[in-house]
Amino acid sequence: MRYAIFSDVHSNLEALEAVVSACKKESIDKYFCTGDVIGYAASPNKCVEIVRQLTMITVAGNHDWAAVNLFSLDSFNSDARESLLWTQRALTSESKLFLESLTPVYRNNELTLVHATLNNPREFNYLQDVFSAEESFVLQDTSVCFLGHTHIVGIFVSDSEGKVNYSEQAVLNLSQGNKYIVNVGSVGQPRDADPRAVYCIYDTQKKTIKIKRVAYDVKSARNRIIEAGLPSALGNRLLTGH
Ligand code: ZN
Repeated sequence: MRYAIFSDVHSNLEALEAVVSACKKESIDKYFCTGDVIGYAASPNKCVEIVRQLTMITVAGNHDWAAVNLFSLDSFNSDARESLLWTQRALTSESKLFLESLTPVYRNNELTLVHATLNNPREFNYLQDVFSAEESFVLQDTSVCFLGHTHIVGIFVSDSEGKVNYSEQAVLNLSQGNKYIVNVGSVGQPRDADPRAVYCIYDTQKKTIKIKRVAYDVKSARNRIIEAGLPSALGNRLLTGH
């Protein structure tokens, strides 16, 4: 099977469309999303619709739940909070039903999905160092877990003795006995100094994971954020990927 996994679309339609059209050329069997479909940018309903049309499995992100009052707005900075209040007003009842239906963790025989960490997944803590990766690995039954939340691509590898290393390589050959946490970055608001949208392909036969980036019309996405009356910083940061 060839799986496409992506995260943190954040209402960025231009970025999502670029990722979907790149994936359509890759013979993908199934799509997965590790949360935060909405928040920050100007197209929450269209992004929800596309994600639903892909009949993909999606887990809940902190923005997804905050937009439907399942998570407190207090933990967000002022721009994020403002965009969530805007999003709450913009969401259709259909989109709200979708966001309300999302659960924090998904598992099958081949992979686990979570937005932030497997330990206390409803708290949406940041998995950004070896220590926090170790805490999540303890609860990981599958060899691979995909997540997002930090908007920074990276892979944590736990070897057969439980020693954890961090890697930023774009192509990974999976080894038996190891466990992996793959942060797939962000489609709609990358923060690792590369403004292109990111997604990931997991080939379960070849046992490979590939991180891919695709350029999109960043200026249009930025302009629509500003025209919608959202904080201009949320548009401008897309230009640099910070
Ligand atoms: Zn996010």
